[in-house]
Amino acid sequence: MTHLSTYTCSVCNKEKQITKDWRTGCIESPDGEKICFDCCGAIEADELHHLDFDTTLCMHVKQVNEREIYITNWPETLKIPVAGYILGKYNFIGRRADYYFKFRGNCYKAKKVGDTSMAHVRRIKAIPEHFN
Ligand SMILES: [Zn+2]
Repeated sequence: MTHLSTYTCSVCNKEKQITKDWRTGCIESPDGEKICFDCCGAIEADELHHLDFDTTLCMHVKQVNEREIYITNWPETLKIPVAGYILGKYNFIGRRADYYFKFRGNCYKAKKVGDTSMAHVRRIKAIPEHFN
């Protein structure tokens, strides 16, 4: 692993190294502040926890195998197991899938359309009973 440079995370104030391994990198906010991926995970976890019913959050679906599917943020510092999913029909943009999961006692649905790993997450009142 090659260390390219260091930066100080503006959330946790820890000195972090920017390496070629993208998992130890950071994101930069519009005003130039650098936030490490661990803090991104914590921020996104909070954002998800406080998500309004009429707001969507963009997250990712990571499918390890048939039974192991996770909802993640981009660097995968936040990883939530999916309780169940429903595959929709194919349409002109591809297959649609709805993933249901619980996080800190709240219920969510992640809608994924097409071959991308991106999914739009919405908070819902309850996940389908057979997924509980
Ligand atoms: Zn940090």
